[in-house]
Amino acid sequence: MKKRVLAGIRATGRLHLGNYLGAIKGMLALQDDSAYEALYMVADLHAITTPYHVEELRKNRREVIVDYLSAGLDPQKSILFQQASNPHHAEFAFYLSSLVTVARMQHLPTFKEKVKQYPQDATMALLNYPILMASDMLLYKPSDVPVGIDQEPHMEVTREIARKMNQEYGMDFPEPKSFKTEGKYVPSLLGEGKMSKSVEGSYINLTDDLETIKAKLAKAPTDSGTVGGNIPEKGGVGNLFTLLKLFIDKETFVKFVIDYREKRIRYFEMKEVLSNAIYEELKPIQEKRREFEADPEKVDKIIREGNEKARQIASTTVQEVRGEMGLL
Ligand code: ADP
Repeated sequence: MKKRVLAGIRATGRLHLGNYLGAIKGMLALQDDSAYEALYMVADLHAITTPYHVEELRKNRREVIVDYLSAGLDPQKSILFQQASNPHHAEFAFYLSSLVTVARMQHLPTFKEKVKQYPQDATMALLNYPILMASDMLLYKPSDVPVGIDQEPHMEVTREIARKMNQEYGMDFPEPKSFKTEGKYVPSLLGEGKMSKSVEGSYINLTDDLETIKAKLAKAPTDSGTVGGNIPEKGGVGNLFTLLKLFIDKETFVKFVIDYREKRIRYFEMKEVLSNAIYEELKPIQEKRREFEADPEKVDKIIREGNEKARQIASTTVQEVRGEMGLL
């Protein structure tokens, strides 16, 4: 029997380099590993846990699939689907919520951060976010989940819930582990924090052209106050070097490190090299995107078929759970 892999990205905006390097690269690696059956979803239900616009969500839940296809996820190898098309995600989340206390959810750092961000909109859906995520995973019983570092508290909740389901109801859920990539943490262009869809100015989108990439990098701060010595770990300069390392060959990278040490670094030149390297990586993705955009029926068919396959797998798990929980 093949092991399973499950991953998802929220339908809250256009994908960026952080999503690509932190999540999609891992998704691609496991799709091409014949030991795995891969399921990759658009987390559209998760998008309604914070304030949103209906028309944007309607658009984004399709656009993320087009981004997946453009980046190389292949419907012949992976099941690509939309979470909300499968009612079992919400149903199973409700069953799982009977095993989790309110206090456990309220104490999660991820919940506290979101409450700070949206003090007027801390809804029950937001409190339930980690349980819905546990439902997404356990429905498909995956062994691995390609996910960035930011999601670790939710992975831990999922493992706890899996253990409880196994103890209380004699189920056989595996405890899924995170699959990390080299780009598991892509920094923001603003000089602090991570690159994120919800922080304006922090990201480069997969659809950005060379001019846009150059313009965004031109605004990235470089005045760290000191030049020479070791490359700073944080701040504008540190973040630029982190990005550089992810995109260019070792030799060129070392040249810029030496330039920095010897106080002759020219950030304009460094940003130029970085812009070109990022664009080189994104160009084939953008070309493929244009092909899919020109063939909406093909995309619709891929989504329809993926949704159906995911629903079938999930319905087997839910039937089993309903039986064990006394609901059949
Ligand atoms: P965002 O914060 O941009 O809305 P999501 O919450 O939808 O992103 O995350 C989707 C996936 O992308 C997750 O696996 C997440 O860990 C990963 N991811 C998001 N931002 C980054 C980043 N800056 N670096 C590495 N991985 C990231």
